[in-house]
Amino acid sequence: MSAQLIDGNETAKQIKDELKLEVETLAKHGIVPGLAAVLVGNDPASEIYVTSKAKNCKKVGIYSEVIRRPAETTQQELYDLLDSLNHNPRISGILLQSPIPRHLDEFAACLRIDPIKDVDGFHPDNVGRLLIGEPRYQSCTPFGVIELIKRYNIELKGKEVVIVGRSNIVGKPLAAMMMQKWPTTNATVTMCHSATRDIFAHTKRADVVITALGKPEFLRGESIKDGAVVIDVGINRVEDSSIEKGYRIVGDCHFESCAAKASWITPVPGGVGPMTIAMLLTNTVMAARLQAEAMGAN
Ligand code: NDP
Repeated sequence: MSAQLIDGNETAKQIKDELKLEVETLAKHGIVPGLAAVLVGNDPASEIYVTSKAKNCKKVGIYSEVIRRPAETTQQELYDLLDSLNHNPRISGILLQSPIPRHLDEFAACLRIDPIKDVDGFHPDNVGRLLIGEPRYQSCTPFGVIELIKRYNIELKGKEVVIVGRSNIVGKPLAAMMMQKWPTTNATVTMCHSATRDIFAHTKRADVVITALGKPEFLRGESIKDGAVVIDVGINRVEDSSIEKGYRIVGDCHFESCAAKASWITPVPGGVGPMTIAMLLTNTVMAARLQAEAMGAN
């Protein structure tokens, strides 16, 4: 392997240590950030995610609540819950854990969350602010990608960045961030998706390739250029009978062949994954600060 590793576990830990200090300072001013995670239904993976988010909140001193509602919850009941959280002064940030049961309208629920408490950064108010270069809360996974690149001093200005995947939670907000005229970004961005004619023609000429498509080991070393930076957002479970649990987690990049050619690479697991939660905590602390400032201004 010639690439250097971009260590998401270590970087996320640094961020959480910094946040802990910030939370202690806020506490001296009577401000305690609070996160409410809303879980509707019985999705086992969602249960693991929200439990992990609550544990991480505790580590940095953020107050947290996990609010569980049955799968039969109606849209109106969900609205009522979100309204009560919007008005709850202990709660600075609200997240609605996806997926929610099919009979519920997730987008309408997202619109019901007060944008000042939308720490996932999914509300169109926050997405729009990002697009015009005036962000408030940035979507946590792409925010984590930008933060990793920044903390590893990887220059993006003028670079050819190719993003594979255009979801609303990863690819699109990441492109919006990368194209901004910010000191940490300012790149030339190409978006690839399922209708792109020759994806590898794009990835082969990229200085930075970001894969967020959810296809195990989709990108191989022969499709990147020497010295490229490879950021792998994908998290895929593949069967592996040689391991006791019967599966392993791989990214959207074939790690060994990409690492042999890249200059920098994120591993999976331990790359972008841990950053997502660190950025959720960052947004929650920011939310507490912004709401305290708004109260002071009134
Ligand atoms: P989505 O399924 O919402 O979006 C996938 C995107 O990839 C779509 O834009 C789709 O194109 C595109 N795509 C799918 N197949 C291909 C293909 N063969 N060639 C080109 N483009 C393709 O996924 P998410 O954005 O939610 O997640 C992507 C990956 O990132 C998953 O593995 C997920 O687990 C992981 N993830 C990791 C997170 C983390 O914390 N590290 C957080 C969120 C996601 P089209 O739009 O044309 O359909």
